[in-house]
Amino acid sequence: MKKHILIIEDEDAIAELVKFNLEKNGFECSRTDSAEAALKLFEGGASFDLILLDLMLTGMDGTDFCRIYRADKSLRQIPIIMLTARSEEADIVSGLEFGANDYITKPFSQRVLLARVRAQLRSGQESSQASSKAGAHGIEMDTEFHEARIGSKALELTANEFEILEMFVRAPGRVFSRDAIIKNLHGDGYPVTDRAVDVAIANLRKKLGNKADLIETVRGVGYRLAK
Ligand code: CA
Repeated sequence: MKKHILIIEDEDAIAELVKFNLEKNGFECSRTDSAEAALKLFEGGASFDLILLDLMLTGMDGTDFCRIYRADKSLRQIPIIMLTARSEEADIVSGLEFGANDYITKPFSQRVLLARVRAQLRSGQESSQASSKAGAHGIEMDTEFHEARIGSKALELTANEFEILEMFVRAPGRVFSRDAIIKNLHGDGYPVTDRAVDVAIANLRKKLGNKADLIETVRGVGYRLAK
């Protein structure tokens, strides 16, 4: 069955190009030029496998849409990729915090867009299987046994380091803001600070040895594992 993608974008030229290319690659696409129209589609019972969301929209903007989407249980499962201008850094951060899964800055190539779309659709499938095993770039993790290894070498990780590495390994290329990381950590009953996240990242890099560069800093946004 074809995956159905909703494009929310008010610039006709971009929307039509994206739609054309996705359809050429076997996806089914619907399009709205406002967040309000998209919400109406959902109210009418439409369902999608992925949403491409322009941040700067007339009327309700993309971050507000993310906030509403996240508050609604039935929509929360659908991955969102934000389409943004580079100057919208603060909006990118709040979009990620309010539930978007990834973002692409304009102008973007159709090849990059296609790769990101496929990655999101794949990671959605994997997380619904809720496997205890995850791996990327030769890093292997088993959450059931709290094990992380590179080849035959076991990594000795703290609870925070383990959870952060698991987030990264389950979604290579996805950017996590510090706040998103903090929300994901259990914190052992005490609050996790920005500083604690930075320290855990620094220690993780050390422990990854020659794979340290895999953990990338996305300036002004957060961290990610290389794709
Ligand atoms: Ca726009």
